[in-house]
Amino acid sequence: MTIAVIGSNMVDLISYVHRMPAEGETVEAPEFRMGCGGKGANQAVAASRLGSEVVMVSRVGNDVFAETTLKNFEDNGISTTHVLRTEATSGVAPIFVDPDSHNSIIIVKGANALLTPQDVEAAREDIARCRLIVLQLEIPLETVYAAIDLGRELGIPVLLNPAPASPELDLARIAGVEFLVPNESELELLTGMPVSSLEDITRATDVLLSAGITNVIVTLGSRGALWAHADGQEFVDAPAVQAIDTTGAGDAFIGCFSNAWVRSGDVLEAIRAGSAYASDSVTRPGTQTSYAWAADLPARRD
Ligand code: ADP
Repeated sequence: MTIAVIGSNMVDLISYVHRMPAEGETVEAPEFRMGCGGKGANQAVAASRLGSEVVMVSRVGNDVFAETTLKNFEDNGISTTHVLRTEATSGVAPIFVDPDSHNSIIIVKGANALLTPQDVEAAREDIARCRLIVLQLEIPLETVYAAIDLGRELGIPVLLNPAPASPELDLARIAGVEFLVPNESELELLTGMPVSSLEDITRATDVLLSAGITNVIVTLGSRGALWAHADGQEFVDAPAVQAIDTTGAGDAFIGCFSNAWVRSGDVLEAIRAGSAYASDSVTRPGTQTSYAWAADLPARRD
């Protein structure tokens, strides 16, 4: 195993409506699509499609969505040994999209909310064989902290994507994380500092570095990413593309970054790869459906 992703999975239930229903109203949707998502699963899928051996530590429910998710992991070559069946509903996300691409999303965490520190401990042997632990915040914070502690104990670097932004995340508990990868709004919430200019962002990343994070990588949408570390900072442009759907771009970045970093150990090179991969993904619709496989990747020009 090269990468352990400890995190969420969801099934997106997307209804394309002519307009959003008002309270108490029923509207008909001419089109419906189902897709596999969840931040943990997205990141695992991107890393696996690029060639990493990925073990997923996650929980699914006891319903039909569990089958969909397990099959999706298998189709993407991800180890499901530690994807546990739970007496609960699976994580699902009913989504409504109107003709102007405005959306309303409901997240039902379901089994994801039941992933425990004991589940992480039960996967210890497989996690110990990995070169990176990847975490997000769609599972209980106690489980995230347990995974960080296990990484420290085993000497395995941890990448934490603090998404969705959580005001309860305790900076003291995430000290020692090798890579913290927020987007701008997550950085703002995490530090309580403004992020409206590059100077602001640098001040905020300085606080995180002082709190004991080794590398802070802030993704900046179409502008690319900023890497802050003890010796300075580097800005990496995103390739200019015709973006049509940016859903899951951050997850594409993290999956690709992780795959590149476990291979080379070169952070800057991994950020360039992540940025190129995520930018390519925004040119296609959907989340996982927009993630390229290694064989499909366009040649990089940087
Ligand atoms: P999130 O999806 O977590 O909000 P970002 O919006 O920062 O994350 O996007 C992550 C990465 O995706 C960026 O660093 C960039 O490489 C790529 N990206 C996102 N939006 C665009 C865009 N409009 N054009 C080109 N690349 C993009």
